[in-house]
Amino acid sequence: MEAFRALPSVDRLLGAPAGAALVAAHGRQAATEALRVALDAARAAVRAGGAAPDAEAITAEARAALDAAARTALRPVLNLTGTVLHTNLGRALLAEAAVAAATDAMRAPLALEYDLTTGARGERDDHIAPLICALTGAEAATVVNNNAAAVLIALNTLAEGRAAIVSRGELVEIGGAFRIPDIMARAGVRLVEVGTTNRTHPRDYRAAVGADTALMLKVHPSNYRIEGFTRSVAAPELAAIAAEAGVPLMNDLGSGTLVDMTRWGLPAEPTVRAAVAEGADLVTFSGDKLLGGPQAGFIVGRADLIARINRNPLKRALRVDKIRLAAIEATLRLYLDPDRLAERLPTLRLLTRPEAEIRAQAERLAPAVARLLPGHVVTVEPCASQIGSGALPVETLPSAALAIRAEDGAGDAPERLAARLRAGDRPVIGRIREGALILDLRCLLDDGALLAALA
Ligand SMILES: *Cc1c(COP(=O)(O)O)cnc(C)c1O
Repeated sequence: MEAFRALPSVDRLLGAPAGAALVAAHGRQAATEALRVALDAARAAVRAGGAAPDAEAITAEARAALDAAARTALRPVLNLTGTVLHTNLGRALLAEAAVAAATDAMRAPLALEYDLTTGARGERDDHIAPLICALTGAEAATVVNNNAAAVLIALNTLAEGRAAIVSRGELVEIGGAFRIPDIMARAGVRLVEVGTTNRTHPRDYRAAVGADTALMLKVHPSNYRIEGFTRSVAAPELAAIAAEAGVPLMNDLGSGTLVDMTRWGLPAEPTVRAAVAEGADLVTFSGDKLLGGPQAGFIVGRADLIARINRNPLKRALRVDKIRLAAIEATLRLYLDPDRLAERLPTLRLLTRPEAEIRAQAERLAPAVARLLPGHVVTVEPCASQIGSGALPVETLPSAALAIRAEDGAGDAPERLAARLRAGDRPVIGRIREGALILDLRCLLDDGALLAALA
């Protein structure tokens, strides 16, 4: 058939300038394979009665397929969801100092488990433990993969084969399959529930103490609030009850924070220092929630208990790598200068952006965004940002958004437009509200990034 004969060979395609460019960009093997696939598709089209595509069209198809496959799956996106610490978008953005420290740790050897003074072997946590203690008032500290791991190893070390007492109002599910009862079962700890969903009294804890009680556990209800007719036992009182019973108290703060957030006009979240001062023997918290560092789980508290945790073989399985340790150290150092923290720590910088500044940015961007999305109307609307990752679930921060709607008879429905914006080289992620795509600009520090992503 004439049309089949008109199709070029793979060698001819590779020899043409566009084929050579394909080899230069993706390598000979991948280019050859992609051209074969494109030629097969061309043959199938001819068989179906179509015209033979020319060499340029076949090479362009191979190029498009290779370029699409080469796009990194974990490429940066623009988080315009209004949730600052978005777990599905990677939570906290690291400070420049932390990025630099992590990069250095990747490029050159470092004294990870080496004592530079004595030349002897050291412990990897030794570099940051004193810093964590200084920032929290704790006696000792250790760090593991994330807070879920911190809770797991602490429970396993302190109470394996025995019982831990927890209020029914604090049996939380964090999402992503982290549930206190499940993690306790995996740690080999028997859960003793006390009280009811809304009310737990000191006498409930006292009555539950038995011969195999090893621990009292308090869990911060990070991502929900129980309101109305409620009673819970505050940490200082529970510490006294635990001491009476002769068992340690562990307080899982979840997010926790190293500084009083109300200093920046933000809603109050318990500080680690306060939890330590209130008498918890161990406190656990996350590295990538309000703290604003890389994913990590911190355990702080009594030196004898931390030493036992460090001897648990699970510690080796849950330990943090050098890249993150370097980033954690650099992040914690920023807390030594709280006056400049909001400038340096992206999480705090985003959380403290004034509404007026975000609104001015939205007014500035609306006309340009409308030009890039023909067939749509772009308006500026007030909205409420969330802190995210379970921290402060009820409180929101006033913000401003671009609301994008299809013009009558033109443009895309919001779901379709959202899908289009997600498909770009730099995906833009918003949310849908009342027939509009809402782009909350709280987390957009660079106007140009949005315009480039939409162009
Ligand atoms: C978030 C959270 C965890 C889990 O922390 P990760 O760092 O996500 O592993 C555990 N407990 C509480 C109370 C939390 O809020």
